[in-house]
Parts: sequence; structure tokens; C-alpha cells
Amino acid sequence: MLLLIPGPVTTRPEVRAALGVDIAPWDFDFRPIYAGVREKLLHFANGVAGEHTALPLPGCGHFVTEAAIRSFVPPGGKLLVPMTGRYAQDMIQLAREAGRDAVPLSIIQTEVMSGSVVSDALERDKTITHVGLVQSETGSGVVQDVDAVGAAVRAHGRRMIVDAVSAFGALPMDLRAHPEVDVVAFSANKCLEAFPGIAYAIARIDRLIECEGIAGSWSLDLSDVYAQTVTRGDGRPRFTPPVQVINALDVALDVLREEGGPTARLARYTANMRTLYDGMLELGLRPVLDREHQGPIILNVHAPEDPAWNLQRFVDALKVRGVVISNFYSTPTPGFRVGCIGAISPSDMEGAVEAMEQALNDIGVNNRAGVLQ
Ligand SMILES: *Cc1c(COP(=O)(O)O)cnc(C)c1O
Repeated sequence: MLLLIPGPVTTRPEVRAALGVDIAPWDFDFRPIYAGVREKLLHFANGVAGEHTALPLPGCGHFVTEAAIRSFVPPGGKLLVPMTGRYAQDMIQLAREAGRDAVPLSIIQTEVMSGSVVSDALERDKTITHVGLVQSETGSGVVQDVDAVGAAVRAHGRRMIVDAVSAFGALPMDLRAHPEVDVVAFSANKCLEAFPGIAYAIARIDRLIECEGIAGSWSLDLSDVYAQTVTRGDGRPRFTPPVQVINALDVALDVLREEGGPTARLARYTANMRTLYDGMLELGLRPVLDREHQGPIILNVHAPEDPAWNLQRFVDALKVRGVVISNFYSTPTPGFRVGCIGAISPSDMEGAVEAMEQALNDIGVNNRAGVLQ
């Protein structure tokens, strides 16, 4: 089965095999793995030992994004969130539920925003302390420019939180070049090609210490996670972690290194996307984004303008043919979405395009041109 959703993704057999072990979290054999994963992640973020630290947090992407907001935006601070799409909206909700002030910044969701949009907003409102950026907006498929937004944040002396959940492991993240970034948050089950259950935050150590005690939550306090790594030694977890999931992530990180790191992975995902995008056009389907703004993670396609179109029936017909896509869409207009990430190659994408053609025939969709907006 090809899992073409933007996480959890298709995994490699050796990564799946690493799930099938019985181990205790405190076992001395597991401790070096627990600590080693943190080091490997720091390396992929170009972090500096002693300046940055990778912190594990059991749970999904939303959990670690909430932890990032709670741990760095003080009560009384203000988080500006460029409205890239659904996950930017979620960031606003996470912040507000945590009692933080969060303000949306309207942008054109189908394009990459310029740094000046953020710069202008920071100029207008001096009470904004943080910018929360979704690096790869899974809701649209657009990848935002961390360098441009980061430069604007830096120039105004504010801080930045990056939701890199559908980015980390493939899209560039260079912490050395981004002193304005307090924290980068992501989970194991997207571009890292491992399993759901563990998330990580890579954060600045000086800021973790400065921000001690502001989280208003013990479970989601990254400063506390950090403090415990110091007092308990690197290899002993705070609470019970998903041991097997971390064991599998460890293998997946070795796979990432052997593949050639995030640069090589990005090249593979980009080739996957190109194959899929071309395939959609050949089938007469209409992608939501122009090629120019289309990121390599997820492709949104307009629903065909045909009375026979039915998303669930299409998803079911595809599944029979060995391909799983989401049975919902997160674009403003109806459509379907296909993930290009995971342990898959352009030839898998060719197979998926063929399966889509057959599935469309199965459900009797002849007119594939998307509904014009
Ligand atoms: C997947 C995703 C999340 C988090 O999703 P969870 O379901 O909580 O793991 C957050 N942000 C982005 C951009 C994502 O793609």
C-alpha cells in the first residue's frame, strides 16, 4: 500500500522492524538511543552543541507546537501568525487556548510571502514579541521562506517560532543562520519518515533558561524538559516516552543520513512532486497552485467539475488499487490532496497517477477540469 498522505507516511521495512521490540525506557541499552536521536536531530538542523538542544515531547505535532508557544511566548507577550492556511489557524487557536495573545496577519495563501509583509506588521505593532511561522503549510502546499521572514524578525529584534512539522528532514533549517529563532517544532512521522507518537523541539538553550516557569503547564514545558536532560543525564527520559517509536526514528535518521541528508531527500520529494504535477495535467486535472508556488510536500488538486465526482468514492476506488490519499481537503474550495513525502520515489508517483486515472474511470468522472473559482 502506498500511503500518500502528508504523514504518517510510507516507511521503509527496516524502520518498521525497529518498532517490533520490547524494551524498557530506562534500560541502559536504550539510553544511548534516546540521547543519540537528539544529537542526530541537532545535526540536521545545523545546531550548535551547547547553544541549541533537541528536546523530545511525546505526542503529535500540535502538542509540540503548543509546548513551543507556551514555553517561549510569555503571558502578556504577543504572537503574530502569518495566515498561511489551516496550520497557521491552528497555531492561533493553540496560543489563545493557552491564554496568549495571538494576532493573524493576512497574506495571499497561494503565494510565498515576502519578508516585507512581516516587516511592515512588526513596524506597525511594537507590542508583538514573536512571529509564528508555518514553514511548509500543509493546508496549501506552499513552502514559506524562513530566511526572508527570519531576517525581518531579526531586524526588528523580535523572536520567532517555526512550525516545521511537514518540513523538517527535507526542507532546509539552518539554526546557525537564525539566532532569532527560539524554537523549531516537528514530529517524527512526516519528512523524517518514521512513526507518529514522538515530537521534538529544537530550541536555544539561553532562551530555555530565560523562559523558565512561563509555560503554565508541566507536561508541555520545554524548559522543564531541558532542565531534566541536564539534571537526570541525557539518556534518562522525563516521563514514559514511546520507546519503540523512538527506536524506529533512530533507524530512520540513519536512513536519512545514508540518503545524503535533507538536501538529497528534498531532491527526491521534488522529483516526486514533479511527476505527480505533470501526471495531474496529463489527466486533465487542475492543481490548486501554480508550479512556481507549489512546494514539494503536498499537492492540492481542484475537484473535477463532473456530477459523478465524490471524494470518498474516489478515495475508496484508489485504495482498492493500492493507493491511500486523504478523504478530506483543507483548501478553501473542494478538491483532493496527495502527499509526495515518505519512502517513495517518482516511479511510485507514476503508479499513483495511473491508479488515479483508473479510479476516475471507476467512478465515472469524465470531465476532469477543476471548478473555476
Ligand atoms: C501535520 C502538521 C501539524 C501537526 O499535526 P498533528 O496531527 O498534530 O501531528 C502541524 N503543522 C503542520 C504544518 C503539519 O503539516
